[in-house]
Amino acid sequence: MKILIVGGGIAGLSSAIALQDDGHDITIVETLEDWKPAGAGLHLPGNAIEALRALGIDQDVAAKSSAFPRLDYYDHHDRKLFALETEQLCWPTFQALTRSEFHEILCAKLITPTIRFGLSVSAIDHDADQTKVSFTDGTSSSFDLVVGADGINSTVRRLAFGTEHVPQPTGYICWRWITDYPFGLTAPKFVIGHGQVILVMPVGGNRFYIYASTYDPGERIRNLPPSELSAHFARFDGPIRDMLSTIKPDTPIHEGRLQQMVMPEWVAGRVALIGDAAHGTLPTMAQGATQSIKDGLALANALRTHADIKTALADWQAARLPEAHWVQQQSLKRMAFAKISGKAGVWLRNTLMRKIGPKIVATGFQPLIDGKAGTRKN
Ligand SMILES: Cc1cc2nc3c(=O)[nH]c(=O)nc-3n(C[C@H](O)[C@H](O)[C@H](O)COP(=O)(O)OP(=O)(O)OC[C@H]3O[C@@H](n4cnc5c(N)ncnc54)[C@H](O)[C@@H]3O)c2cc1C
Repeated sequence: MKILIVGGGIAGLSSAIALQDDGHDITIVETLEDWKPAGAGLHLPGNAIEALRALGIDQDVAAKSSAFPRLDYYDHHDRKLFALETEQLCWPTFQALTRSEFHEILCAKLITPTIRFGLSVSAIDHDADQTKVSFTDGTSSSFDLVVGADGINSTVRRLAFGTEHVPQPTGYICWRWITDYPFGLTAPKFVIGHGQVILVMPVGGNRFYIYASTYDPGERIRNLPPSELSAHFARFDGPIRDMLSTIKPDTPIHEGRLQQMVMPEWVAGRVALIGDAAHGTLPTMAQGATQSIKDGLALANALRTHADIKTALADWQAARLPEAHWVQQQSLKRMAFAKISGKAGVWLRNTLMRKIGPKIVATGFQPLIDGKAGTRKN
């Protein structure tokens, strides 16, 4: 089968790896001139392990990651709210690494696909038997299958599904970077303040991934210079305050607004959307990478199982969509804790978290670990 994958992010590369051993002729087009993975760190909760193993990268990921025995939750005065003991629950290992290392691992597994950088698609014409794709360099070609793995602002989605499907704003703005500030942590630390959250995550080699967010539904904050982040998060005490004061004007920090993309259908003719193009979600449960990898694995499996491509794509969507939609709903619901500000609201939330925090977090991950997320029982 002649397959075009648009986008060389986690979804595009994972699907190419999953498909490459089945004799397909695969081309990946990537709009960037070279690999430049966006973001800073990547948290891979326990349910990622099975997907990483199926893709053949679990050992490589483990070698580059920090592995965690628990998740710690604190208030902004650096007082512990609760811990979720993932190791004691006998869950598969929660781990994290840098985005660039994860990307290198994926790239090293790519063998047969052709990669064309600095190229995108400009038109997609459906046909019963093939899909004709025009490229931004003026050339065109026909494919048996086009996989839209071009992220939350997907061009494939616009060209093949229509302009009405656009990502929805969620009101959160975030900043992400890697620091070597000596936190000395062995587990991720989620620190929750007044409409703000800061996560400190070990990512191997004495480095820490920082994710800092603010609820800003009016979108008043834009292009905050690194030197102003310390003042912006001034309510945080303890090591976080000290770390923020070490930020330099040239510290590479990614700013972005969090969006969500809910698509009722992921298939149009011979075009399939995967990863964030199909189900971009809030990072609350750190599921984006795992869900993207599972899309690719399931797609390869469906194409192996069914000779007819329409049946394969319908089967693939039915297998993947319920869990991905469940993740989106849960992530949005759970992120609401991060909106709360004001003395009374924060006191109430923190009191609640001290009492039932572990249960709230556990009921998010358990269905994913059991493979039951999105089924009728949830
Ligand atoms: C703040 C934040 C924190 C997150 N933290 C985590 C986490 O800890 N763990 C986790 O699992 N997930 C996390 N996620 C989610 C995760 O990053 C995404 O789900 C995942 O990267 C999706 O991969 P993708 O390949 O679908 O999209 P992308 O990563 O966006 O990749 C798309 C690729 O397509 C390319 N492209 C775009 N347009 C075109 C085009 N027109 N033509 C050709 N190429 C194109 C891009 O250059 C890019 O290489 C987080 C997301 C955010 C926003």
